[in-house]
Amino acid sequence: MSTPEAPHMQAGCLGGIFKTRFRRSSNLKGHNTPLVTSDNPAPSALRRDELAHRSSASPGPSGVSGEHKPNIYYGTCCDFSGKDYTTNWPIWEDPPPYSNTGSSGIFRAEVMRTIEYVLDQLDPTLRKLSLQIHDNPEIMFQEKFAHDTLSQFMESHGFSVTRHYLGMDTAWRAEFAHGKGGRVLGVNSEMDALPMIGHACGHNLIAISGVGVAIAVKAALETHNVPGKVVLLGTPAEEGGGGKVILLERGGYTDMDVCVMCHPAPGIAHSAGISTSLAMQAMEVEFFGQSAHAAAAPWEGTNALDAAFLAYSSIAVLRQQIKPDHRVHGVIKGHNGAANVIPDYAKMRWYVRAPTREQLFSLRDRVQACFKAAAMATSCRANIEFGLPYLELRQNSVLGAEFIRTANNHCGIVSEVWEFASAASTDFGNVTYELPSIHPIFAIPTQPHGGNHSPAFAESARSTEAHKACMAISKGLALTGFRVINDDDFFRKVRDAFELSKTDKTH
Ligand SMILES: [Zn+2]
Ligand SMILES: [Zn+2]
Repeated sequence: MSTPEAPHMQAGCLGGIFKTRFRRSSNLKGHNTPLVTSDNPAPSALRRDELAHRSSASPGPSGVSGEHKPNIYYGTCCDFSGKDYTTNWPIWEDPPPYSNTGSSGIFRAEVMRTIEYVLDQLDPTLRKLSLQIHDNPEIMFQEKFAHDTLSQFMESHGFSVTRHYLGMDTAWRAEFAHGKGGRVLGVNSEMDALPMIGHACGHNLIAISGVGVAIAVKAALETHNVPGKVVLLGTPAEEGGGGKVILLERGGYTDMDVCVMCHPAPGIAHSAGISTSLAMQAMEVEFFGQSAHAAAAPWEGTNALDAAFLAYSSIAVLRQQIKPDHRVHGVIKGHNGAANVIPDYAKMRWYVRAPTREQLFSLRDRVQACFKAAAMATSCRANIEFGLPYLELRQNSVLGAEFIRTANNHCGIVSEVWEFASAASTDFGNVTYELPSIHPIFAIPTQPHGGNHSPAFAESARSTEAHKACMAISKGLALTGFRVINDDDFFRKVRDAFELSKTDKTH
């Protein structure tokens, strides 16, 4: 097993996206994006700062020294405290019939019929899979049941499966190719749960969505004789450890032309959305001093707690000079001491967030300067560690528009592209830097104060309504993915949008 050094902090997901103010984006003009209006407002227009994430109380990395040395650990990214969305979840209505494709239509309605048929046939089986995974929650890098169950399932559906993919015990890859050549659609299935509260982020739904999309696209390739390949990755440790970052670094996404996945969250009934997220990096600093009798010989001591105090104060001052959409938050750890002993050790954990990678690194450097200054002022030694950053989501605008058009016209989903950034973060953000990708959020019914990362959300993630929402969005993702394989002109536009996004520093 070459599982990376165990991460100890929870990272996050995109669930908080639905708690943010809904705003219509101008990025996709001309596409059908009806949803929230003054007549049909979002349940509440919450402030971005209400999305500030909770800090994890779990321990940080160990055994790594040296400034800027990459280490694998991540900060908590989500505040999923939940709001009042349950009041706006009506009884599920059937999606519109196939013939009702709206004025804008969809790509190849006959392919959509294939996708619909396959996923409807699979529905009870996927429901069972979802509940099995939900009933066997496994935290980061321990998704053995999910790994074995899902890889076996994909094998039984005609996929070529690689277990323990790229040296990760619980990663897996399932692929199917039809004909010769053609493009490659990538899909992701997350599997991990949260400590103590199980599948409180709904990754059981993400798992079966990936499975469903891959099998539906396989059927579409075969039925309509389109050459191409679909690759489904079982991606461990989204909540802590950045499984996708590791897979990315080891070449797990190299042969994909695009990659798609989805994530559940509270929100307006039968809705989905696409937006970016905050880039995030965890930092940890240890201050080493010298103990001494605090009264008899304080001059013989070097006070590590003073260093932490100065670092905290410096960052508190810094925070007033950063932009409103940047975040720095942290805690002092250390060990229990006596008031009459000069503390020789203190440990701090910080999370730095910003809308873009560049802004993140800039802010990170300013925070690091506070650590160094504190060490210098107190004559302590500082050891600073950096986690691998979660980059912000760079949702592909062409894929996003296609998904929205498909979902709105055919999947019983109303969708929007949002121009704001969710305060959450995800390891899929790093994937979106490397290849065209989309990561829609879809709404499931939740209880008040029962958003992602709450025990109530775990219950929501196993509800019948959540399953139906998952299946609906999977149909939209499958057809969007199929079009990438089947439509040269569409794929060219996807690539063009991807190349253009690299120059967009505001993204
Ligand atoms: Zn999640
Ligand atoms: Zn989560």
